[in-house]
Amino acid sequence: EDRITSGEHLPDDAAEAALRPQTLDDFTGQQASRENLKIFIQAAKARGEALDHVLLHGPPGLGKTTLAQIVSRELGVGFRATSGPVIQKSGDLAAILTNLQPRDVLFIDEIHRLQPAIEEILYPAMEDFQLDLIIGEGPGARTVRIDLPPFTLVGATTRAGLLATPLRDRFGIPLRLVFYTPDELAGIVIRLAQKLGMDLSYEGAYEIAKRSRGTPRVAGRLTRRVRDFAAVAGGGTISREMADAALTRLDVDQRGLDAMDIRYLKRLAEHHGGGPVGVETLAAALAEARDTLEDVVEPYLIQEGLLLRTSRGRMLGDAGWKHLGYVPPQNRPD
Ligand code: ADP
Repeated sequence: EDRITSGEHLPDDAAEAALRPQTLDDFTGQQASRENLKIFIQAAKARGEALDHVLLHGPPGLGKTTLAQIVSRELGVGFRATSGPVIQKSGDLAAILTNLQPRDVLFIDEIHRLQPAIEEILYPAMEDFQLDLIIGEGPGARTVRIDLPPFTLVGATTRAGLLATPLRDRFGIPLRLVFYTPDELAGIVIRLAQKLGMDLSYEGAYEIAKRSRGTPRVAGRLTRRVRDFAAVAGGGTISREMADAALTRLDVDQRGLDAMDIRYLKRLAEHHGGGPVGVETLAAALAEARDTLEDVVEPYLIQEGLLLRTSRGRMLGDAGWKHLGYVPPQNRPD
């Protein structure tokens, strides 16, 4: 079932592409990454060279694809996008690489899901702009080396730790995306509301922002749902109260947590005394994939202090106990 608070891309989000920010200056938040990119892009342009390879890592929905597109636009070069699981054969990657124009941006989403054999083709391509192709099979097979145009690989992954070290080391510009503050998200919501022709008060926008899990994709989705709700409720300026009512109806609580988050926290509190407990155990109990817990559910809970990741497993944070309406226990081991 699709969760409204998930940072992952859902079919319903198809319309979002038209609303993406187009330039670095238009892009709200991620100040450190933005400043870094600005400098490196200027330098690459001044030298007339391809930008060094960029690795964007961070939870889904924080703007990795958007930033990759902005990088190509700011460089004034072409943009080609694919993703790790889509590239099945070495020939698929070879075809993409040999069709690039000089200095183009190649975006590979979910780059941690590339097959190892395909990763190995990528190493000389990234380092020396060379492609080693094997022609033929068996004893007659031979290797042909092809020069590639210099290009910029922009890789995106939810966790940098999922990447093989040799691959990670080949990115000259690793950038970690962080959750957005409510103020930053309120700015994004207001801009989006304007583009959608919504009559949304600042307080209404802020209410949506606070409940968007620090994630622009979630903010966009909640904004569109609030708009639908307001239309049915008879129109007029959308107040904080209307936004609150709509979000509550959607089962998004005051902190932006949904039923899945609450199930997770309650499981820890009520079955494991607050932990520590292994993520595998939690995944089995909640009937969720471990990757989904680690990539989608946990990062925001951890950032908010609701959940702690310790060497012995997951533990409920003080804020987590309080959010469930319990008094945090004293003298816990940690
Ligand atoms: P990711 O690739 O990290 O999953 P996307 O780049 O696809 O995330 O962004 C998800 C949605 O959030 C898009 O609709 C995008 O327009 C919006 N978005 C992301 N970052 C920002 C931002 N800084 N300002 C405004 N909108 C943003």
